[in-house]
Amino acid sequence: MPRPIRAAISASALAHNLAVARRHAGAAKIWAVIKANAYGHGLERAARALAAADGFAVLDFQEAARLRVAGIDKPVLMLEGVFKPLDVPLLHKYALTPVIHSAAQVDMLRTVEPGGPIDIYLKLNSGMNRLGFTLENLGASYQALRENPRVKSITLMTHFADADGATGVKAQLEWFGEMTKSFPHRRSLANSAALLRFPEAHGEWVRPGIMLYGCSPFADRPAETFDLKPAMTLTSEIIATQHLQPGERVGYGFSYEAVGELDIGIVACGYADGYPRHAPVGTPVLVNGQRTRIVGRVSMDMIMVDLSGIPAAGIGTPVTLWGEGLSADEVGAAAGTLSYELLCALAPRVPVAEVA
Ligand SMILES: *Cc1c(COP(=O)(O)O)cnc(C)c1O
Repeated sequence: MPRPIRAAISASALAHNLAVARRHAGAAKIWAVIKANAYGHGLERAARALAAADGFAVLDFQEAARLRVAGIDKPVLMLEGVFKPLDVPLLHKYALTPVIHSAAQVDMLRTVEPGGPIDIYLKLNSGMNRLGFTLENLGASYQALRENPRVKSITLMTHFADADGATGVKAQLEWFGEMTKSFPHRRSLANSAALLRFPEAHGEWVRPGIMLYGCSPFADRPAETFDLKPAMTLTSEIIATQHLQPGERVGYGFSYEAVGELDIGIVACGYADGYPRHAPVGTPVLVNGQRTRIVGRVSMDMIMVDLSGIPAAGIGTPVTLWGEGLSADEVGAAAGTLSYELLCALAPRVPVAEVA
């Protein structure tokens, strides 16, 4: 028998969350962001469940090719565009829309024949200072793209650094407007946070990611307040129990010491499954649907959980690490990270079951 850990991916939750995004997007079209193996949910599986999206956004050309092989014929946005000249012919071959964020990429499009006309996204750096053109270098590249006969259409794009935070999008939105005021093109601006929070910052194509997986982009607002449903539920079972006497310790480094007598369960889930190693004592977990906490250090294949108040728990008792009943946002916050990182880190060794 395989170890009892598994991830259940709910196709109906994905479809439901897309419908939520649709309600917020209004008339804007939706790129469903399925980079990073659809945030750990499985690329093809997520694309099927999110079939009502207007297009899909990925990073890797391998991911893009897999979508085409799977028969998905919607537009595909390459979020970092081409990496090397050899990528250029793939654009037309697979009908991909590259983000063009650097003069080097503009040159690649000029010097390598893409094989046919392509749509492009022109990415502007409106303040995040990661990818994109600034006002200083925008003009020349824009001109070169306009003169490139293979470029069939241009959409203007930017990315917000703090749509979920205190700064918001105002300054970036204004600067983006200033930089593009003489360019009559469609715009794509919003990630999940901006889609949910700033209707004025949507543009014609929005780019939700995390919300499609049922998590919240906001630290202070749970996903269910947006009617989002967790798409991934990571479960396992207790494979052993221990009864500790006061003063006895548990796990590597003996880092947790039992104050009184303490029953603990050993769960088949560790950092090699994608559970965050830095999750501290107290990180929430469900045992038989009941909320408790982890104790001791997360090890490669196991974690230990407090069974106080769950007397019926024993070998074979089900455990939920995150998902239905316990938000990955909450587990991520307890572990000093984000649901994004937990979902993406789901390890290949964890069997995945698709559920309705
Ligand atoms: C990942 C990504 C998104 C999606 O962001 P979420 O916060 O997951 O909604 C949108 N746009 C770009 C450019 C991205 O890289």
